[in-house]
Amino acid sequence: MSVPTDIQLLTDELRAVLKCSILTPGASGYAESILRWNDAVPNAAALVVFPESPEDVSAIVRSCVKYKVSFAVAAGKHTTSTGSSCDGGVVIDLARINHVVTELETRIVTVGGGCRWKDVDDALVGQNLAMVEGIVNDTGVGGITLGGGYGWLAPRYGLILDNLLAATVVLADGSIVVASRTENSDLFWAIRGAGQCFGVVVEFVFLAHEHRDPVWAGLLGFTLDQLEAVFGFGNRLVESTNGDSAMVVQLSRYPFSRQGREVGIMAVVFHYGDAESAQAVFKPLLDLGPIVNTTMAQTYASVNNMMTAEAKRGGRNVSKGAAFTTPLRPEFLREVIVPEMDRLQAEIPGSDRSIIEFEFYKPDKWCEVPVTATAHGHRGRVQNVMIGLYWNDEQDDVRMEYWSRHIADLVAVERATHGRPAEGPVTEYGNYDHLSAHARDVYGVNYARLVELKKVYDPDNVFNKWFSLVE
Ligand SMILES: Cc1cc2nc3c(=O)[nH]c(=O)nc-3n(C[C@H](O)[C@H](O)[C@H](O)COP(=O)(O)OP(=O)(O)OC[C@H]3O[C@@H](n4cnc5c(N)ncnc54)[C@H](O)[C@@H]3O)c2cc1C
Repeated sequence: MSVPTDIQLLTDELRAVLKCSILTPGASGYAESILRWNDAVPNAAALVVFPESPEDVSAIVRSCVKYKVSFAVAAGKHTTSTGSSCDGGVVIDLARINHVVTELETRIVTVGGGCRWKDVDDALVGQNLAMVEGIVNDTGVGGITLGGGYGWLAPRYGLILDNLLAATVVLADGSIVVASRTENSDLFWAIRGAGQCFGVVVEFVFLAHEHRDPVWAGLLGFTLDQLEAVFGFGNRLVESTNGDSAMVVQLSRYPFSRQGREVGIMAVVFHYGDAESAQAVFKPLLDLGPIVNTTMAQTYASVNNMMTAEAKRGGRNVSKGAAFTTPLRPEFLREVIVPEMDRLQAEIPGSDRSIIEFEFYKPDKWCEVPVTATAHGHRGRVQNVMIGLYWNDEQDDVRMEYWSRHIADLVAVERATHGRPAEGPVTEYGNYDHLSAHARDVYGVNYARLVELKKVYDPDNVFNKWFSLVE
């Protein structure tokens, strides 16, 4: 007779105490449940459990700790890293904890830990409320909030985590606690930036904002010869807007740009206001005669949906963050970044889907919050770059990781040599990182306090799938 393994004992125990769905390899739905944004992530979990309540999550955490079985927490599954996967272990998939409850008078919105932003948008229809969200609505509330959270409304209301009022957290010992400014305030401090390292957040409590549709947004596609004009506009926009207008500019090989052979430019534009006021702000861009133009007045919810079809999971993928100050020199893009993208295309087959994205969000609002007020370390007056590289062959995995760091280094050198002072701390934006950075470089001045709090809340490091806070 064979001796049961820890994973078998754990599975039997969870099946005995839980009523929720538990999938093992081969079960219907298992293959889909382990899919992640990045196909290169080892993801063959021995068990995928779909808790439906904080008590379910608590029982899973306790059992995993008891049998010393490694586990990961999954929400929107958009990290390109191993952060929400557990090869050979357990995935706690929060998809069934997806309630959204709004209180109109207080503007408080309570969101289940497994929600995607689309769940939030659907629940807010007709409520005249809007929240700061990620700009692609099938990303998870969980990962984005716990690691920062940039989006169209961040220049008006701050980062997503700055709009968090409280959270219910399942800790490493299985206890279920509330974290807020008045309860477990040190935990509340830690989860706003490094939440992935401290527990499973089963419920978020956010402050929403009064809102009236429509807003104005869309995609504007340009060929490379308009690079100077588009980025020059972005530089001026960050200076001139009060936070109501923002733009994210992507460089990639779009089908519209010389049959996809040349790098093209996609400016994703947003204006918090009507079409008339938007067109006045964006006139210099519109006058360039974009070859793609989907801009229109629409609901905030539909803006959050407009990139979802484009941004599809799949393929081997790495992401890496970097930061720039405005004005960003177009010469840097034309003479350094575009040639690097051409070199990448020549060297790595299948890398044509790769995107380098430059965000033009006015940073003043999140810079009002002192960097030590939350664990989030990245509060300088800078803009993020998201380097998202794609390829096909496993043999290129290491090279592509190198490429992502190489491009980030080039952006860092440009900021050091031609940028202006960031007027605040600039660290790696953890949510854009493939977990290749050191936690010290993500959390900056907050790192030492996080290391101490980790010893209190998770002394055995059972939440070990994100940046390491163990020295
Ligand atoms: C297409 C795309 C668009 C993006 N847009 C934006 C954007 O607009 N703004 C922005 O700031 N970032 C954006 N990002 C980056 C994003 O913040 C990260 O990918 C983030 O990790 C995604 O969170 P998730 O819940 O979807 O992912 P997951 O892979 O499920 O989770 C990421 C990490 O968070 C942990 N986690 C998730 N939920 C919980 C929870 N409830 N409790 C405890 N731990 C949890 C997981 O364990 C994992 O370690 C984008 C990424 C992609 C791929």
